[in-house]
Amino acid sequence: MGNRFQVIDRFADGAQYIGGRLRPGTSDREHTVINPATGEGIYTYRLASTADVDEAVAAAKAAFPGWSGATPGERSDAIHRFAGVLADWAEDIATVESLQAGKPLRLTTEFDVPGTIDNTAFFAGAARHLQGQAAAEYSGDHTSYVRREALGVIGSIAPWNYPLQMAAWKILPAIAAGNTIVLKPAEITPLTSLLFAMAATEAGIPDGVINIVSGSGRVVGEHLVGHPDVVMTSFTGSTGVGKRVAEVATQTVKRLHLELGGKAPFVVFDDADLEAAAHGAVAASLINTGQDCTAATRAYVQRPLFDAFVARVAELMDSVRVGDPFAATTDLGPLVSFAQRDSVAGFVERARDYATVVCGGEAPGGDLKDGAYYRPTLITGASQDSEVVQSEIFGPVLVALPFDSDDEGIQLANDTPYGLAASAWTKDVFRANRATRELKAGCVWVNDHIPIISEMPHGGTKASGYGKDMSAYSFEEYTQVKHVMFDNTAVAAKDWHRTIFGDR
Ligand code: NAD
Repeated sequence: MGNRFQVIDRFADGAQYIGGRLRPGTSDREHTVINPATGEGIYTYRLASTADVDEAVAAAKAAFPGWSGATPGERSDAIHRFAGVLADWAEDIATVESLQAGKPLRLTTEFDVPGTIDNTAFFAGAARHLQGQAAAEYSGDHTSYVRREALGVIGSIAPWNYPLQMAAWKILPAIAAGNTIVLKPAEITPLTSLLFAMAATEAGIPDGVINIVSGSGRVVGEHLVGHPDVVMTSFTGSTGVGKRVAEVATQTVKRLHLELGGKAPFVVFDDADLEAAAHGAVAASLINTGQDCTAATRAYVQRPLFDAFVARVAELMDSVRVGDPFAATTDLGPLVSFAQRDSVAGFVERARDYATVVCGGEAPGGDLKDGAYYRPTLITGASQDSEVVQSEIFGPVLVALPFDSDDEGIQLANDTPYGLAASAWTKDVFRANRATRELKAGCVWVNDHIPIISEMPHGGTKASGYGKDMSAYSFEEYTQVKHVMFDNTAVAAKDWHRTIFGDR
């Protein structure tokens, strides 16, 4: 137990990482990071002030000419070394992530940390493959080509649900393309973003390329979004805050990338493998204690399978072991905070008035009573327009609803404001193909739900936002394409000048 907390000593110098070193914030407010498994404080730090943001932006601005002027190969080498340091630090990073977010160590060790190392290795390679249209004489009289250029200082804001991965998804494509960055993590989970930036410095990425300001959204976040020296805002978080971020960013005409909320449908057709669908629904709704923007939240099940699906999902949910994130037998940890647990419980309590809570629907007592735990919960009998079907709950809660025709299943799946992810469960290739075409989402899985890979884009549509994280597509957000055009005629009176000079 003692050893586990020693890793927190790494942050003894403060929670602001500016110009390649840790230091305290200069605001007059402190924040204590709470371990949600026990309710105990694990680290108290002074929050960033707007002056700290100014300093971080200045550090990023100063680092930009050198970093953007490095060759793609040099940036790639540095990011490869970065992946190596992350691998060396993997155990500490996983421990810190589990402590601050309550994630089972199994999840951080097998998913969050290796996923981030793989993202880093991917962007080390991708840094050498920025692409554009071929240079050519498109007009006949000119040679045209495109330059894909870094933008400058990026200001990013990340949520608490995957603190490490969300920081990595923002930072990696930005720096691989030659930008420098200031990232604001959620103030309740700043620690692995700091470790990530510290690992970059250890790997030789120059000071100022990655800066972290740990502070409040309203003060520090808005100051970063509105900062005149920040050229782009990349935000991952809720749709409500995303709208506010867009408003502030518009005042300084910033490029915007918004990864917002989700309410993913999970559509089970009547020819599906019931056992696979039930396992898939339980794993995909409970991953990260349901605090996953792509989590399965609404299972639409064609009527002939509905009762059997509900019975099997309830049985599997009841077998999931809720407990201490550091115990090897734990499947599900607490929610990230007591506020989030209470918010989830509120949705379920209100649903009791209009729907049936089939299993779960309570916080466990006993040894777990001091943590922000909540049992896996299945709800049936809710109408399509009810709160639990339409709103993002962001907890271990799945709602199951029946449908009759294929048309109806797809129509109901699309009937929320969100469009981040969806899945279709069927053995029929025509049904599957139709679902991939007609489900309105940034990602559609067939006979699975959740896996992500570095090579493929992640991002939503509708109220889930716009722009892509991961993959080469993310470079569309973090670079600008400049058209360069050379005259090849060397004549004074060019053909197109007739628009001004006529036949003179
Ligand atoms: P949140 O919107 O409350 O906060 C996100 C970040 O914004 C935090 O760092 C917060 O401090 C900051 N913030 C708050 N107010 C701000 C303001 N006025 N100006 C600037 N920044 C401000 O989200 P959360 O509760 O931390 O995370 C959960 C949400 O994130 C869910 O809605 C989830 O779906 C979403 N999410 C989306 C994706 C995706 O890829 N689309 C991924 C992960 C999480």
